[in-house]
Amino acid sequence: MLTNTTGLPESGFFQTDNQLKHLVMQAPALMAILRKREGICQFFNPVFAKVWGDRDMLNKSMRLAWPELEGQGYFERIERVYDSGMPEYDYDFRARADWNNDGNVTEAYFDFVYAPYRDDDGTIEGVMIIGVDVTGKVHARQQLAEQQQLFNDITDAAGTALWMVDAQGNMTFVNKTWADWTGQPKEAHLGRGWVEFVMPEDREQVISSYLRSTTQYTPYQVDFKVLRSDGKIQWVAATGRPRYLPNGEFAGYVGSCMDITDRKKAEQKRQDNEALFRTIADSAPVLIWMAGPDMRTTFLNTSWTRFADVASLLSDDGYLQSNLIHEADADQVLKRYKQAFSHQQEFYLEYRMQCRDGSYRWVGMKGVPRLAVDGSLEGYIGSGMDITEMKELEQIKNDFIGMASHELKTPITSIKAYVQLLLSMYKNTEDAFLKKSLTTVNKQVNKLTRLITDFLDISKMESGRLSLNYEQLLLNDVLRETIEEVQHTAAQHNIIYTENVGNFTVHADRDRIAQVIINFLTNAIKYSPQSSRVEVNAARTDEEVVVAIKDYGIGIKAEDIDKIFNRFYRVEGRNEQNFSGFGIGLYVAAEIIRRHNGRVWVESVPGKGSVFYFTLPAYPQGV
Ligand code: ADP
Repeated sequence: MLTNTTGLPESGFFQTDNQLKHLVMQAPALMAILRKREGICQFFNPVFAKVWGDRDMLNKSMRLAWPELEGQGYFERIERVYDSGMPEYDYDFRARADWNNDGNVTEAYFDFVYAPYRDDDGTIEGVMIIGVDVTGKVHARQQLAEQQQLFNDITDAAGTALWMVDAQGNMTFVNKTWADWTGQPKEAHLGRGWVEFVMPEDREQVISSYLRSTTQYTPYQVDFKVLRSDGKIQWVAATGRPRYLPNGEFAGYVGSCMDITDRKKAEQKRQDNEALFRTIADSAPVLIWMAGPDMRTTFLNTSWTRFADVASLLSDDGYLQSNLIHEADADQVLKRYKQAFSHQQEFYLEYRMQCRDGSYRWVGMKGVPRLAVDGSLEGYIGSGMDITEMKELEQIKNDFIGMASHELKTPITSIKAYVQLLLSMYKNTEDAFLKKSLTTVNKQVNKLTRLITDFLDISKMESGRLSLNYEQLLLNDVLRETIEEVQHTAAQHNIIYTENVGNFTVHADRDRIAQVIINFLTNAIKYSPQSSRVEVNAARTDEEVVVAIKDYGIGIKAEDIDKIFNRFYRVEGRNEQNFSGFGIGLYVAAEIIRRHNGRVWVESVPGKGSVFYFTLPAYPQGV
């Protein structure tokens, strides 16, 4: 195309007026020329006509042509342009018409320019109106505004505070939540306004960590306090991520602030509680410790530091080590400690520990697992005491019992021998009184012998001197013979034995196993004065035999079940005075079975009766 530097066609470019007219008529813009000050409609193109419904406008003054525009300033504007010669503009003029000639009336928007129209010598003849269709632009703008509104609605509805800063670190957006917390309108926080609401003591930290992130473009994370409009202090956790424009340019940060006041309060409370616990623990005269689920010791109170050199007690990474534990106890202690942790069990251990002065003292140490609500192990808390004196007293007592029993044993054995002799001598006597007396003496001497044997056994067990004479035995034989023996002395009771273990063989000490059976049977008889039936049952698998001794007697309360196998433990209660005993039979029995790698336990219903069980492994194993 031929153009000069102004972009106007060279004169003579349009060959005819028709060509120019054609261009104007086809243009997608609205065009009209109004002549004179009253705006006589001299020319308009078809698009312009369409806006006005193709009404009859030609040669009419503007007020006659478009009476509906009266009072809206349009006519005055055209007159102003005519008078001043200065163009004026009008944006987003809305018009409805059948723009596509398809029978559908739709909306369109136009930007207008009103320019003076001059004749050849420059005198203003009228006003030229040109309107450009900007519908697309207006729609895009409307859409953007709707999106902005939606964005505001969503961010305002969020329970957390949301924010955005530009590349220079100026706040460009905060949502309603933040404004509500601080009681100030959103605008108050733009730029650097938000800093005002950060508690003064936190400001430096907030800003420095912000600057650190923004220079490195790393995620931003900081907790700080905000002064709320109600005067309360609120903890928030602010997190932010760098934001980039589509062209990759850094555009600032977008992020959120979560209200973490409750969490911080709980944390504070936990810290307070912990401090309180430490104060209490440090002032207690016992050894208190805590360990994590990984067995690492996390706390030892000051009693520990006074008691032992704690630096040697633990390894560098906090694990309990054997250094200070007496070598005779160390393996067992560490084994039980580990076992307790892996099974989350409570434990109590007695062992010797080296003190600060180098001497060994006995400690009784208890550990209790701490479980989380979901049942997972949080760790252990435990306490211990110096039990050396108690141990010494116990030793004196054991020694005394051992010695006394030993001293009693010789005269009793001699008495027993004479009674046996007398019994056989007067076997056929007519003297009923003599016979009864000798039988009673024999019975009582037997009882006494059993008691002394038990006492001796205890002292042997305590000092590790109980030796077992192992032999290969048919368990059935031991059961049958022992039951027969007990039955002889128990006229009131009937012991029913169901033989069904066949030739089950055990590797055991015959007398000791018999002692266990006698103990269970005499208890079953002793504690069932109102019933006469005692049942013995034995069931076997390939690995072991389970012997059950059942009575229909007074039974045992649940709270006593775990304790009756303890040394000297007797069930307290109304019945106690009716049953003599020392509370050692079950302890000895359990110890014997344990030494044979078996188990003992009891099931009982108070008032109904009890079943005492013991097991022995098969010999050889697996037969
Ligand atoms: P002792 O019978 O000498 O008291 P044991 O060690 O044999 O001592 O038993 C401990 C306690 O267990 C007894 O005091 C008694 O209360 C309880 N006990 C043992 N066997 C039975 C049983 N078969 N029925 C009810 N209670 C029993």
